[in-house]
Amino acid sequence: MEITIRIIMKEAEGQRLIGGLRRHSRFTHIIIFLLHRTDLRNILLDSLQPNTIQWNHNFITAEPLPSSSYRIHFTNAPTITADILIGADGAWSRIRPLLTPIAPTYSGISFIELVVSDVDNRFPHLGSLVGNGLAFIMSDNKGLIPQRNSNGVIRIYVGLRVPESWLDEHPLPSDPADARQNIISLFPDWDTNVLDLIKQSDDAPITPRKIYAFPPAHSWSTQLKGITLLGDAAHVMSPFAGEGVNLALIDAYELGRELVGAVRNGGLMEQVDGGLRLFEKAMWQRAGEKGEESLNNLNALFAVHAPAEFVEIVKSYGPPPSDDV
Ligand SMILES: Cc1cc2nc3c(=O)[nH]c(=O)nc-3n(C[C@H](O)[C@H](O)[C@H](O)COP(=O)(O)OP(=O)(O)OC[C@H]3O[C@@H](n4cnc5c(N)ncnc54)[C@H](O)[C@@H]3O)c2cc1C
Repeated sequence: MEITIRIIMKEAEGQRLIGGLRRHSRFTHIIIFLLHRTDLRNILLDSLQPNTIQWNHNFITAEPLPSSSYRIHFTNAPTITADILIGADGAWSRIRPLLTPIAPTYSGISFIELVVSDVDNRFPHLGSLVGNGLAFIMSDNKGLIPQRNSNGVIRIYVGLRVPESWLDEHPLPSDPADARQNIISLFPDWDTNVLDLIKQSDDAPITPRKIYAFPPAHSWSTQLKGITLLGDAAHVMSPFAGEGVNLALIDAYELGRELVGAVRNGGLMEQVDGGLRLFEKAMWQRAGEKGEESLNNLNALFAVHAPAEFVEIVKSYGPPPSDDV
């Protein structure tokens, strides 16, 4: 499916909504091919031999053993020993502390996540406002980022530049209608067409979420053998480059390639470990660039005069490939 990105902005004077900037500028649409992550996950899982993945193992900790292997403990499954340990356990990785004391820090942005289901039948005006991709509706250090998912669902990230404790200090009312009203009240002078995204959102989920990230350039060094990290465990970043899943996938692919190469070359731990170090070097480079991009986008999107700077960033990508989107 082809999707587009829209930047929807209020004008400097008045609060007039400009829907679909393509009418006004030829630079504001980017074409992306979208595959919903659940579908991709199923394709990947279906390609594996049965039982390759051992589900329902809640990992607690791993200890390095003198024999360059790892004893791995779970809350709900027997302890195992492995020669190679790969931490793909997300932003709050429990494997990462074996390699580095660095932990993600608060990005300055908090989200409240909402959903509008069956949007095209129930609220076609919202469906066409968002289009087939996502929209950035940003100003005054806050905004709405609605994103089309599969099955007629629009997921809306209400984004706020607030202190880390803000969501805790301003808990949402438990009644969904009150929660929606509470969120709308954060945008007192905003266009009601835009705020309809909040007004018409489902009773659940309404999920507050703090966004955490590593500094873009970071790495680690270790004396341990046969251990590495990938994806968010290695380089969680704010979602404003839209690259987290891509990075995790390419990490997995590159790591797999190194491991297969090492095994084909004899499979000695020195070869495996050499492959892991090569993999890490390329991963840090890749993730550092995207982490930088993500941080730049964050600062452009969550600014008093947003989305002016973000529009310039999008323009820098060049004209869209075709006019018939
Ligand atoms: C609000 C938001 C919006 C985003 N939007 C986008 C987007 O549009 N595009 C994009 O590319 N990226 C986006 N991202 C980022 C993206 O979700 C992540 O970069 C991506 O999911 C990272 O994949 P991962 O496999 O490394 O980690 P995860 O997806 O976090 O997977 C980690 C896995 O490890 C498992 N795990 C964790 N701890 C344990 C344990 N103790 N025992 C056993 N299993 C464990 C978890 O259950 C999970 O299955 C977004 C992130 C956020 C927060």
